Amino acid sequence: MPRPIAATIHIESMKHNLARARACAPGAKVWGVLKANGYGHGLERAMRGFAAADGLALIEPDNALRLRELGWTKPILLLEGGFDAADVAMMAEHGINGAVHCEEQLALIEAARLPANARPLNLHLKMNTGMNRLGFKPEQFAAAHARLRALPHVGEITLMTHFANADETAHPRLPIREQIRRFNAGAAGLPGPVSLANSAGILHMQELGGELASDWVRPGIMLYGGSPGGKSAEEFGLLPTMTLASELISVQEIGAGDCVGYGSRFQADGPMRIGVVACGYADGYPRHAPQDTPVLVDGVRTRLVGRVSMDMLTVDLSNVPQARVGSKVVLWGVGMPIDEVATAAGTIGYELMCAVAPRVRVQEG
Ligand SMILES: *Cc1c(COP(=O)(O)O)cnc(C)c1O
Repeated sequence: MPRPIAATIHIESMKHNLARARACAPGAKVWGVLKANGYGHGLERAMRGFAAADGLALIEPDNALRLRELGWTKPILLLEGGFDAADVAMMAEHGINGAVHCEEQLALIEAARLPANARPLNLHLKMNTGMNRLGFKPEQFAAAHARLRALPHVGEITLMTHFANADETAHPRLPIREQIRRFNAGAAGLPGPVSLANSAGILHMQELGGELASDWVRPGIMLYGGSPGGKSAEEFGLLPTMTLASELISVQEIGAGDCVGYGSRFQADGPMRIGVVACGYADGYPRHAPQDTPVLVDGVRTRLVGRVSMDMLTVDLSNVPQARVGSKVVLWGVGMPIDEVATAAGTIGYELMCAVAPRVRVQEG
């Protein structure tokens, strides 16, 4: 039999979360973001989960093409645009939209020699409003826009930016309102739809009133039931879409002074039972998760003890007397919020979802 570990993907919960995103951004069209293989959920599953989205957005050109092959006929957006001339040709051939975020990429679009009957390229011109990763500076934006507009093979141009601190609206260094102000200044007078908010922006939209409203929104993590910060996923009305679960494959009875695992990091004060779970860092569980990271065993919340190893981790069974070999263990998902595990391990839910390893069986349920 296969190892007992599996990731169960909850397609119905993906649909629920998409509906939440729509409800938070009334009137906006929604890009379902499914980069990184649908945040680790699988591209095809994410496509089904977000079938009701107005478009799908991602980073990987090969997966954009794959979505067309899988039968997705609505818009597709490459959030970083094309990486070379072949990508630009592919985008034109398959009607895939792309970001244009720097001078070199703009030159690539200008140099594109597309067949006369090719579909016009619909592009997202990106403004750098303080994130300082991708985008034209506000004062360069109108000139870049004019160059794109002059090209016969360019269709619609959407105006786009990305927020650094949408989860903390009063950020001392770069408040979201300052980014919105820079965007509005750089985009003043330019025609075209506007695309602003990711999950954090969408979930804080009400706080910010109309300032964040735009024609398109780009939710990612909230569609997968993760919180971008501020409140818990449950408080935001989101449902988990991935449950990583396994089983106990051994139970050890240990006494005072006995240690567990590599480095003997955990030492028992007195008699206790330790459960050994078939899940390790080679499954994508974070090796740096410290003692006391929450784990659900047989429906009861308990804690990680000792170091996470490649194929196993160990848990305290003191408050789960009924646990035995074969008992179900939930590492994250339904019953154990992924954000709590991530916080304990010093990371974010995004990283945990994306890191589920290829050897973990994936099923739906
Ligand atoms: C990943 C990404 C998103 C989605 O972000 P979340 O925080 O997951 O909602 C939105 N826009 C861009 C440009 C992205 O790269």
